[in-house]
Amino acid sequence: MLKRLQRWREDRLLARSHLGERWESAVESWPVAARYQGPERTRLKDSALRFLLRKQFVAGADFELEDPMRLLVATMAVVPVLELGLHWYRGWSSVVIYETPFVPAGEWEDEFGIVHQSDEPLSGEAWPQGPVILSWSDVLEANAEDGYNVVIHEMAHKLDMLDGDANGAPPLHRGMDPGAWKRSFSTAWDALEASHEAEADDLPIDPYALEDSGEFFAVTSECFFEAPERLATTWPDVYAQLCAFYRQDPRRQRHEPQQDATKSAQSLRD
Ligand SMILES: [Zn+2]
Repeated sequence: MLKRLQRWREDRLLARSHLGERWESAVESWPVAARYQGPERTRLKDSALRFLLRKQFVAGADFELEDPMRLLVATMAVVPVLELGLHWYRGWSSVVIYETPFVPAGEWEDEFGIVHQSDEPLSGEAWPQGPVILSWSDVLEANAEDGYNVVIHEMAHKLDMLDGDANGAPPLHRGMDPGAWKRSFSTAWDALEASHEAEADDLPIDPYALEDSGEFFAVTSECFFEAPERLATTWPDVYAQLCAFYRQDPRRQRHEPQQDATKSAQSLRD
C-alpha cells in the first residue's frame, strides 16, 4: 500500500517535471545507455527520474550542480538495479557531487582496530547507511566502455553493504550458490594477483580490485556493465555470477535489445 502511494506521489511529481524531456540529451555521452532500447530504455529513464526524487543531490564545495549532471549520475546509478528494483538502494538518502576528486572527511578503522585518516583525494566513496560521494570529473571519464565507472563502482558497494560490510558478497538471490560465487571470485582474484605480480601490462581490470574483496566486487561490476565482452572472455564464471546477481546480460543486450512482454510486465516494479 505504502509502495503504491509512493508511486502515485512520484507519478504526479514526474508529470509536472520537465526533467524527463532533458533525459535523452543528458545520457547521450554515455555509450552504455545506448545498449538499453525499446521498453528497457523507457524503464531506465523512469528509474533514473524516480531515483532523483528519492535521493537528495547535494553539490560539494562551490560546485554548481546542473540538471543534466544529476540526470546522468542518476541513470548510471540505476543501471545496476534496473532488474532488481530501486528498493535495493534503501537505507540511505543522498548523493554528494564535488567538481573534482575530494579529500575524504573523517577517520576509518581497519579490521585490526587501527584508526586511519587519509588525505589522498578520492574519485568516489560510499558510506555505510550514509551518502555516496562522487567527483564529477571522474564521472565524466566513463565515456569509453573501458571498464571504468565510478558511479557503478560506488553503487556496487551500496548493494554489497545491504547485508553488512562491503565484503564482496552482496545478498544473493534464492537459487544462487554462495559457494560458487566465492569460488569464481577467488579464482579470478588469484589470476589477477599473479598477473599483477608478474607486472603484466594488459590486466583485464584495474588492479585496485586487489585492495580487498569488496573492491574486487565493485571493480568487476564496473567492468561487467562497461566492458562486458572483456570480463566474459577473461573470467566467464565471474561474468555468469554477475549476470545472475544483476539479472542482466550486458553482452546479449548489446546485440539483441530485449523487447519481450515479460520485461514490460515488470515495469511496475521499483
Ligand atoms: Zn571502492
